[in-house]
This record gives sequence, C-alpha cells and structure tokens, in this order.
Amino acid sequence: MYERIQLPYDLTALEPAIGGDTMNVHYNGHHKAYTDNLNKLTEGLDQIQNMDILDLLLNMDLVPADKRRAIRNNGGGFYNHNLYFGALTPNFTPPKGHLLDKINSRFGSLDALQDKMTEAATATLFGSGWAWLIQKDGDLDVVISANQDLPEKFDSLLLPLDMWEHAYYLNYKNKKGDYVKNYFPIVNWDVVAKRLK
Ligand code: MN
Repeated sequence: MYERIQLPYDLTALEPAIGGDTMNVHYNGHHKAYTDNLNKLTEGLDQIQNMDILDLLLNMDLVPADKRRAIRNNGGGFYNHNLYFGALTPNFTPPKGHLLDKINSRFGSLDALQDKMTEAATATLFGSGWAWLIQKDGDLDVVISANQDLPEKFDSLLLPLDMWEHAYYLNYKNKKGDYVKNYFPIVNWDVVAKRLK
C-alpha cells in the first residue's frame, strides 16, 4: 500500500506563492488520485506490490506489459509529488554548506541555478512535465521530464518543479513564469541537502 507523504505544513501555509485552493486540488485531488490508482493497479501483483516505489519505477520490466504505462504514469505521479510537496516550506531555508558549495561550483550562484531552472521549466519544457535539479555522476544538473516520467539518468532527485497546469493555473492562469519566480522562495533547501548522495 503506497501512502502519500503527510504535508509538513497547512494547505494555506504557502500563500501567497501557492494558494490554498491550488494546494487542496493538487494534494487532495491529483496526488490522491495518482496514489489511489497506483494502489489499485498493483493490487494482487505480488512481485511488485510492496516494492519501494523508486525501485519499481526503475524496473518497469517487472510490470505486466498491459499495466506498464498506467503504473508508470500513476507511480510517477505518486512519487514525484511526494518529492515536490516534501521540498516546500513556508519558512525559507537557504542552501548552505556542502550543497551551497556544489551549487556555486556548478552554476556560479543560487540565482544562476534558479535562472537555469526557470529556463528549463518555462522555455525548454513544452506541455505537462517537470523541471528538476538532480545529482548525476556526482555533480548537480538541471533537466526536464515529460508527463510523470523521471529524468533519464540520475544518482538522486533533489528538487522537482511541477509544471503541470494544475500546479499553478488557479493562481497564475497562463503566467507560469510568475509561478516559477514565486516557487523558489518556498523551497526547503534543508530537505534538498538531505537528498544529496
Ligand atoms: Mn502536480
């Protein structure tokens, strides 16, 4: 049985960056649906039912072919949203120490990293998907993925930015750049640091 993370803040705690209505629809609507669907889809599949979700998503050949697409979509939706909601906070904590060193050496500064993620999220990505800060071959990188897919190659998924319209449309309509700008001040960099390998 897969269970969503419990939000470490109230639904309205991220306002005004992300409104309570958006959070409610996103967490109690979309994220719950992905999770419920994943549990239904894996019911009775003894080999995969209790697998760690990341192991499952990285070993989709274990899934019966007729369920593969649905489990990838809903399993990805379940997992990506755990990472997304888990890395937000009403109490901004800037990156420091080892993580800050890695950001500075790879991108030059936190601002430059944010610019790169913004470009990936608003210009490179087309349609529903995610922009990510990941760790790959030990170093940091910014990449995108479509739908609920994972990035192609990574050691660790550090920070996901949800660019599905459901993540921002109630608040920002078509102004997704404003959503991205207001996302960075609610990132919990302490959580991101713990995801480093
Ligand atoms: Mn979403």
